[in-house]
Amino acid sequence: MKVKTRFAPSPTGLLHIGGARTALYSWLFAKSQGGEFVLRIEDTDTERSTQAAIDALMEGMTWLGFDWDEGPYYQTKRFDRYNQLIDQLLAEGKAYKCYCSKERLETLREAQMANGEKPRYDGHCRDSDEHHADDEPHVIRFHNPQEGVVAFDDHVRGRIEFANTELDDLIIRRTDGVPTYNFCVVVDDWDMQITQVVRGEDHINNTPRQINIYHALGAPVPEFAHVSMILGDDGAKLSKRHGAVGVMQYRDDGYLPEAVLNYLVRLGWSHGDQEIFSREEMIKLFSLDNISKSASAFNTEKLKWLNNHYIRTMDPVYVASHLEWQMNDLGIDYKNGPALTAIIGMLAERCHTLRELAQQSRYFYEEYEAIDEAAAKKHLKAAAREPLALIRTKLAALDSWETEALHQVIQDTATELNLGMGKVGMPLRVAVTGVGQSPSIDAVMQLIGKERVLARLDKVLALLPAAE
Ligand code: GLU
Repeated sequence: MKVKTRFAPSPTGLLHIGGARTALYSWLFAKSQGGEFVLRIEDTDTERSTQAAIDALMEGMTWLGFDWDEGPYYQTKRFDRYNQLIDQLLAEGKAYKCYCSKERLETLREAQMANGEKPRYDGHCRDSDEHHADDEPHVIRFHNPQEGVVAFDDHVRGRIEFANTELDDLIIRRTDGVPTYNFCVVVDDWDMQITQVVRGEDHINNTPRQINIYHALGAPVPEFAHVSMILGDDGAKLSKRHGAVGVMQYRDDGYLPEAVLNYLVRLGWSHGDQEIFSREEMIKLFSLDNISKSASAFNTEKLKWLNNHYIRTMDPVYVASHLEWQMNDLGIDYKNGPALTAIIGMLAERCHTLRELAQQSRYFYEEYEAIDEAAAKKHLKAAAREPLALIRTKLAALDSWETEALHQVIQDTATELNLGMGKVGMPLRVAVTGVGQSPSIDAVMQLIGKERVLARLDKVLALLPAAE
């Protein structure tokens, strides 16, 4: 049987890290088995579902590269199908109309709680022969078996069993005629021929109810893999406070999708002690049975480490295509200076994100507005005038603007003035870049170009205090 998995988000917000990881595992499993991946939008909660959330989900999935083979399907477009099956269950006596009032249910609940019991529907309308008018408001409840156990072998958590006595007759169609989540999911997974359901462990309690519905419909039951929660690095449930933002925020913050994917795949799945996985490798090695049972803790440092790895090692032309986004976002005119690939070669080592890289690249493209105060105070003193003036003369005379020649100029200046390299290199760095830290100044000057370097030196020389 062809493997078919799905990702079935409710469009009520952004695609968060937890959802992205579920989508990744589901997508990876399909790809690893040569199967298909379906996107289904579970929008039956019409009050909370929005088009903006649907767009954001798809944007996040596309950015991460989760291509879907089918869909997006929308549950709101399938009401006829759900209702047809609910009517069929009614006709077969596998579902029934429930007229219990809110008040009755509330009283029942309070009494059960007072007795220390778990609140559950008592089946009042299941066998009732009370007469009701056709238009009397009612819900439809599923007639859950009252004996025996429901068991399934979860790929992550092993065998799970629930006694049917623990499950009450759940509502499958509300008073307003809208079918409910647990029913729609079953019909969809059946109609869409889903073979493995990968989803968050918050759905474990739904699974036995859904299995009973599969049985009632005469549908084959898929396999399940319930993925554990993600915790913040302080052990609390992941929340905004821990940076649990939508995945597009990671793009904005300067992460490559490859780094986020690699991070997510390792967050709850392992293959020996391997840390770095290309997309192809993940697909080749992924298996549902190696997903960890315990909750995983989010670790921003590790994500940064991975991002740095990918910035350094991926094809600079590809990295540049992502850096462009940052440059545009920061309003840096990157056409007015060295190629982005050269900047990546120079700054990748020292940056964890493309955001940082873009920010640090400003002096290659723009004139700085002000020199970093601390750097100026330390390195642009009166004593800097002589080495800067001499170096300016030597640089102006250069025919070849190559790193080696530039290095030689710095060295010659130091020798001539009998100064340490630092006494020449540091004022030069601050004058040329406006900051106290940069990669090797000869290579930086090479990229910035002669004209700009000389102009910046002139500007600084004009401002420097006279020699003491
Ligand atoms: N729509 C559900 C959610 O977003 C997922 C349902 C499922 O995967 O079965 O939590």
